[in-house]
Amino acid sequence: MKALSDKIYYAEKDILEIIKIDFDLINDTEWYQLYQHKIDKTIWRLDKWDKHQVQFFVRLSSIDNWTDFDDTELRIELLQKTRGTDMSRKCIWRECIRPSLNGLVYCEIHAYKEMGIRK
Ligand SMILES: [Zn+2]
Repeated sequence: MKALSDKIYYAEKDILEIIKIDFDLINDTEWYQLYQHKIDKTIWRLDKWDKHQVQFFVRLSSIDNWTDFDDTELRIELLQKTRGTDMSRKCIWRECIRPSLNGLVYCEIHAYKEMGIRK
């Protein structure tokens, strides 16, 4: 059993494998599935698979309004953490003073919100 210590993950093969083994499916809607960890009982939300979208697995603090939880900030943080920041280059978005992400000319906020980059 592998502990998931972060609040959000890209739902890639290794994570999907962990979900299959360590989690129970407790709800299923058009866009999301709700999971509970078998041992620590934490609640997590998985995006339904879509070939056009990057799929995320996010930890929720509560089951209340679970379909409405806005994980945008966590997704942006994950994008930043995954790519890393190039401190020597600024984002080229107008008036933005943040450093750009490695391999991109945008910071994580403009990459995510303006360019639709998820990963
Ligand atoms: Zn920017």
